[in-house]
Amino acid sequence: MTHETKDPASPATERVRISCPGCGRKDHVSWPRDQAVYHWKCFNCGKEFDLTRDAGH
Ligand SMILES: [Zn+2]
Repeated sequence: MTHETKDPASPATERVRISCPGCGRKDHVSWPRDQAVYHWKCFNCGKEFDLTRDAGH
């Protein structure tokens, strides 16, 4: 008999590597798993973007 335990420490966010569409700056963000779009403001060029997961492919 196996006892399967769900990991309670499963994070609600995942670290995603993104690059700024404006200036190309690369950064890591904590992206909520249930969010398809991540609103992000670049600290380098000051522009704001709605990033999608597909962009990193
Ligand atoms: Zn930027």
